[in-house]
Amino acid sequence: MALKTKPNKSGAAILDAVKRAARQEQFLEVVSATEARRRFEACIDRSPLGAETVPLAGTLSRVLAADVIAPVDAPPFDRSNVDGFAVRGADTVGSSDGAPKRLALNAEVIACGVAPEIDVMPGTATAIATGGVIPRGADAVVMIEHTELMEDTAPAIELRRAVANGQFISYAGSDIARGETLLRRGAQIGSREIGMLAACGFAAADVVRRPRVAVLSTGDELVEPGKPLRPAGVYDSNGVILAAAIAEAGGEPVPFGAFPDDELALELAMRNALDACDIVVLSGGTSKGAGDLSHRIVSKLGAPGILVHGVALKPGKPLCLAVIGDKPLIVLPGFPTSAIFTFHAFVAPVIRARAGLPPEAARTMTARLPVRVPSELGREEFVLVSLVAGEDGQIAFPTGKGSGAVTAFSQADGFLAIDALASALDADSNVEVTLIGKTERAPDLVIMGSHDVALDVVVGALAERGFGARTIAVGSLGGVNAISRGECDLAPVHLVDPATGIYNKHLLGPGLTLVPGWQRMQGFVFRKGDKRFENRTADAALKAALADPSILMVNRNAGSGTRVLTDGLLRGARPPGYANQPRSHNAVAAAIAQNRADWGVAIEPVARMYGLGFLPIAPEHYDFLLIGTRRDRPSVRAFLEALQDETTRARIRALGMEPAPRASI
Ligand code: AMP
Ligand code: MG
Repeated sequence: MALKTKPNKSGAAILDAVKRAARQEQFLEVVSATEARRRFEACIDRSPLGAETVPLAGTLSRVLAADVIAPVDAPPFDRSNVDGFAVRGADTVGSSDGAPKRLALNAEVIACGVAPEIDVMPGTATAIATGGVIPRGADAVVMIEHTELMEDTAPAIELRRAVANGQFISYAGSDIARGETLLRRGAQIGSREIGMLAACGFAAADVVRRPRVAVLSTGDELVEPGKPLRPAGVYDSNGVILAAAIAEAGGEPVPFGAFPDDELALELAMRNALDACDIVVLSGGTSKGAGDLSHRIVSKLGAPGILVHGVALKPGKPLCLAVIGDKPLIVLPGFPTSAIFTFHAFVAPVIRARAGLPPEAARTMTARLPVRVPSELGREEFVLVSLVAGEDGQIAFPTGKGSGAVTAFSQADGFLAIDALASALDADSNVEVTLIGKTERAPDLVIMGSHDVALDVVVGALAERGFGARTIAVGSLGGVNAISRGECDLAPVHLVDPATGIYNKHLLGPGLTLVPGWQRMQGFVFRKGDKRFENRTADAALKAALADPSILMVNRNAGSGTRVLTDGLLRGARPPGYANQPRSHNAVAAAIAQNRADWGVAIEPVARMYGLGFLPIAPEHYDFLLIGTRRDRPSVRAFLEALQDETTRARIRALGMEPAPRASI
């Protein structure tokens, strides 16, 4: 939903815009995913597009439009496989080191590319190179190693081995036979297929034309990547993600760019896209709010028009499927995860079909779900998961990022489906996970807990030692839970025991040890130049903040170490903004930098990154819980070595953290 107001609008106009924004139209009719697919497919042509001739070098990953019949033999002639002498096999019978046989040499040398002129008569041999044409009369080749040149007489060789007929000869057509079907229509061309085509003399191939797919984005907030982000702006990530996904599905993406939510401009662009392309994909502007106009424009573009607007699917409810003339037009939800999910479910199969590719085979695996996942009744829900190897089988962790996340899809290993009629999946149930993307090798080390930029440094050092780590950010408490169930090897945590003021020791459960990591300075964060706080101590700044009710704080989520520290500082006070409880240091810093709050508590490196003022309060300990019995695993040892390594420690210091003394690790 986009709310459009101009600063110079009259009060009445603003009121009008507010009312329009607050009035959500309902979807006309929300249908099931199966019904949506049925309606869509009934109106579209899924047969492969026509053929085009493409030079061989450009055919990689294209699809052959017709069978290819070999016009020549390969090899084109009987060919020697070794350096040696072309002979008649019968002449070699009985020769050995003890009883060599002598053959007279013919007066020619058959190098590659030389057509032989002299027949090999009984008792003679002709020198021949690897790849040379077998001369008339010869039926075998003796390797040069098994002969001796006789220099005393007329040119001759002595044979030390007998050879059978056909020895060291590749016969014409033994590789590719003229008239044979070399490649079949529908085959996807790789380097090997290109090699086969070239070996037959083809300079080009007839391939299925790739569907041209227009990619448009809409939203007043969208900014082209590469340009500076203005306040309230969002980078147009859908445009590039979709273009790449279209190419992966065998289509040719045609980027049209991002458009403001302007009905006229967008309609014009969509008409141009329909003229120029086979399929049109637009993302954004699809929920039926006041500023959201995609469906309104689509309904004007022609018959048969909108087939589906609203699918009982999560993510992806606002999906709009239409056909204009014979061209599919799809409006995807704007939220990146929803957009890419619905693209793969509804658009990619159509692109693949038109590109001549077979449907993608779903790869699935069974995994255990460690937590309960609630689900909305009435909508089939898809939950993105990360897979981790457990003691007995795979474990599927919901990634926990919403449909607005750009990273949710790219970081997930797969997804699981929750039936529309189920209100939850229970913890410890077995689920079927559909895998997405390429299968990577299983990580050597699984790290689950709180994330920190310096952790990336250690994981980088680990990679240099040849070990791959998988980090899953689930927060300190999530890490404690995961490691107590053996689901990860290391859990980075930073929680203070309110009773003792000591960090992390109280989290040690049976079988766990604590590996010291580094300290991060926590402090009072504010905008530079804010006279109320600048040049004070954290204590004085806090007093000033609590004395003025117009000053707004930003808090942290319960359960975080920073929240415990903040509550300690506030001693029961509840200043304005206390209820605003984001989950990360970055979110605190962003709120202050963007003037949505005036102060908060965060770590120094983050304050620095956002150009904010910082008054130190106390160091926070970021340590690692480790399953003791896994300490001797090579990947864990490499992790501990990396923590000890001077280069790694210098990099951690450069980020503003203080590594724990080496002796303690
Ligand atoms: P809409 O479908 O237009 O209501 O947009 C829903 C959400 O998706 C909003 O938060 C948009 O900012 C976001 N969004 C829409 N289009 C894009 C895009 N091209 N790239 C990234 N985010 C987008
Ligand atoms: Mg929008």
